[in-house]
Amino acid sequence: MSKFLSAGKASLSPYTPGEQPKVLNLIKLNTNESPFPPSPRVAKAVSREAVERLRLYSDIQTTALSQAIAERNGLSTEQVITSNGSDEVLSFAFQAFGENGVVFADITYGFYSVWAALYGCPARVVPLNADFTVPVEQFMTNKETVFLANPNAPTGLTLPLSDIRRILEANPDQVVVIDEAYVDFGAESAVTLIPEYENLLVVQTFSKSRQLAGGRLGFAMGNKELIADLNRIKFSFNPYNVNALTQLAGEAAMRDDAYFDECRKKIIESREWTATQLRALGFDVLPSSTNFIFAAPRFMGGRDYLEALRKRNILVRHWNSERIKDYVRITVGTQAQMETLIEVTKELMA
Ligand code: PMP
Repeated sequence: MSKFLSAGKASLSPYTPGEQPKVLNLIKLNTNESPFPPSPRVAKAVSREAVERLRLYSDIQTTALSQAIAERNGLSTEQVITSNGSDEVLSFAFQAFGENGVVFADITYGFYSVWAALYGCPARVVPLNADFTVPVEQFMTNKETVFLANPNAPTGLTLPLSDIRRILEANPDQVVVIDEAYVDFGAESAVTLIPEYENLLVVQTFSKSRQLAGGRLGFAMGNKELIADLNRIKFSFNPYNVNALTQLAGEAAMRDDAYFDECRKKIIESREWTATQLRALGFDVLPSSTNFIFAAPRFMGGRDYLEALRKRNILVRHWNSERIKDYVRITVGTQAQMETLIEVTKELMA
């Protein structure tokens, strides 16, 4: 830390992303990326001509991309904002709506507490129930902006839309942000509720179910006034937040429904297969609606299991936090990768 850093920033504890090692031949199941490449339409869209057009600034309205997102979700483009990963639009939501307070779960996406600290949003942290379900009433106080990941990470558990409705109705004076990074792997999206609730903001990403984590593309959907608020932040920060190549890639990916369905179907099948295998080996496995599995090995601690797997070139994720230290989070890879994980686990147990 230099002597020049502003005093208020010295106490920040930044978010720690999962490792991105450069070693080859690793089975990388630690950051919830897709094991499949982007839609073949993406490579076509990012053409030589598109590269040549990089001399121009990108479209600040992300017109064609927003149109594709809006059409797929039955919305107008004024109800959509795109961003540099969903992380960026989530951070805009903290800035736009968080000044008087935010509320989120103790076990959830680790970035929420980081943004609350960065933007000075007073935070109330609600402990999840012992079984990691959400104590819904605690989010019904109409006092703070609500941030809920649904499905939640790293647990993989999902809240039914009926509970989201209760939270929306109990918070008429607060924005309720539903972070749906993993929704395409088996949960019900709250997008259908947007016409009914002016306080609902739904955030999604291209990083998981559309295979574009490295393209950095996310988006939020909500009523047009909320989207205008987020644009106010974006245009006070970086109007060109989504680069031109990513806009083309995102539009192509959003319009390829067949490939999207094929990939998520494979992930769901391998997830269910892996969960069944792990349960048979005595793991405590939470029911997942995502592209990852949260599981406690039981025959050894979570950290020890991660380290044993790592020695055999398999990466998973673990948090050294009291309530979840027995668990690891395993991204669902290809079926072959999951079969290797199970084989290696059996060897470790033998
Ligand atoms: N929300 C949740 C719950 C996540 O797990 C992640 C991925 N780390 C994100 C948002 C952000 O993803 P991205 O910025 O790649 O869209």
